[in-house]
Amino acid sequence: MRAVRIGVCGLGTVGGATINVLARNGEEIAARCGRAVIVEQVGARRNNPDCDTSRLKITPDIFAVANNPDVDILVELIGGTGVARELVLTAIDNGKHVVTANKALIAEHGNALFALAARKGVTIAYEAAVAGGVPIIKSLREGLVGNRVQWIAGIINGTGNYILTEMREKGRSFTEALGQAQALGYAEADPTFDVEGIDAAHKLVIMASLAFAMPLTFDKVYTEGISRISREDIRYADELGYRIKHLGIARRRGQGVELRVHPTLIPQRRLIANVDGVMNAVLVSGDAVGSTLYYGAGAGGEATASAVIADIVDVARALEVRPDQRVPAAGVALTAQAGTRVLPPEEVVTSYYLRISAYDKPGVMSELATICSDWGISIEALIQHEPEEGERLVPVVILTSRAREASLCGAVAQIQALDTVEGEVVRIRVESLG
Ligand code: NAP
Repeated sequence: MRAVRIGVCGLGTVGGATINVLARNGEEIAARCGRAVIVEQVGARRNNPDCDTSRLKITPDIFAVANNPDVDILVELIGGTGVARELVLTAIDNGKHVVTANKALIAEHGNALFALAARKGVTIAYEAAVAGGVPIIKSLREGLVGNRVQWIAGIINGTGNYILTEMREKGRSFTEALGQAQALGYAEADPTFDVEGIDAAHKLVIMASLAFAMPLTFDKVYTEGISRISREDIRYADELGYRIKHLGIARRRGQGVELRVHPTLIPQRRLIANVDGVMNAVLVSGDAVGSTLYYGAGAGGEATASAVIADIVDVARALEVRPDQRVPAAGVALTAQAGTRVLPPEEVVTSYYLRISAYDKPGVMSELATICSDWGISIEALIQHEPEEGERLVPVVILTSRAREASLCGAVAQIQALDTVEGEVVRIRVESLG
């Protein structure tokens, strides 16, 4: 069979690693693919010293790659949603298949890109967009195809997981742990996307779209970052038998789906609670298979290249297959997608960890218990230590039963207004993941 010719745009961390792995494992990849994979052209405006480019045809104009008639598959590895979107649109318009690692592009523009690709009879593949080298897209779209997925919970941002791990293991503050992550190159100079949960929301919405056969609804994901997590909360969680992880959660409920990214207390005994450092993990619960866990490197050049190459091989294998017989980019034909409602945050149902700074006076505990009970919330566990020497305020930590977010907010507002309570009530959601 004739070789498949790819055009790689972007020669940074992932682009360079993709070229390297293709060169190193070329024979095995060709054997598995049934045809050789040839890098026809590379679009890069600077050299990558970690990559041997001596035998590559390089152009500084990435659009020349998208317009090159000798390129079958355009591999977009430049990142961002501006030029990358234009580039992918041009490639699709020219009848090229696209492989991308770009979660922001898929999460924010995937619906339109998939529709154009379907009209043009080409494929868009994006395994590397979620959890780096972990083949979670293929698992959701193909491996679990016989299931009705009930929920997904994932540690899908390595930077955030590294920060929370440092805070727990070394007792660092959020700011100290972030500084450490930046010094090691795990966090960008502007860490907003990672620590505020935007990157995780991009990945969550992509997984949810496949799991629930629904369009990508990035603007409907409830997103909360980790910057307000304190060492104290990590210590109390530990005392209660929990770890705090920054999770992306997608859950099917009768009336719709919950899509949310936020810090979460999860029982220490769960495997996913022990996924530390920069590693990623995704738990998927399906009605037939039960719970399945996918774990591995969520970032890094070669780990991500592994996923990019898996997509290239998938696309190459299906080149001669009729477009309507290929595995659809969205898991189902776009016309078969469900118009599932994303539930607003106030309809979310979960348990809560509350940390309240209360004056050490008689009657405080009964006031708190009455407010919770009035809102239909039971107290499942409570910690109240003796106040420190000379301290008038004492932290009260409560784990609640499952409650609607709206009820919890009502209870917290009332607690906050008590004369016996000082400062803001800290609240973190709790999930059993059982
Ligand atoms: P990177 O190291 O910054 O590489 C991107 C490369 O694209 C840079 O060399 C950049 O050149 C080049 N580029 C950007 N715009 C260009 C243009 N208009 N013309 C020519 N070259 C252009 O980024 P990366 O880490 O490889 O990430 C690439 C994609 O993979 C992103 O979508 C990212 O989200 C995704 N991803 C990355 C990882 C990871 O571990 N790194 C993991 C999963 C997914 P300049 O340096 O000159 O700007």
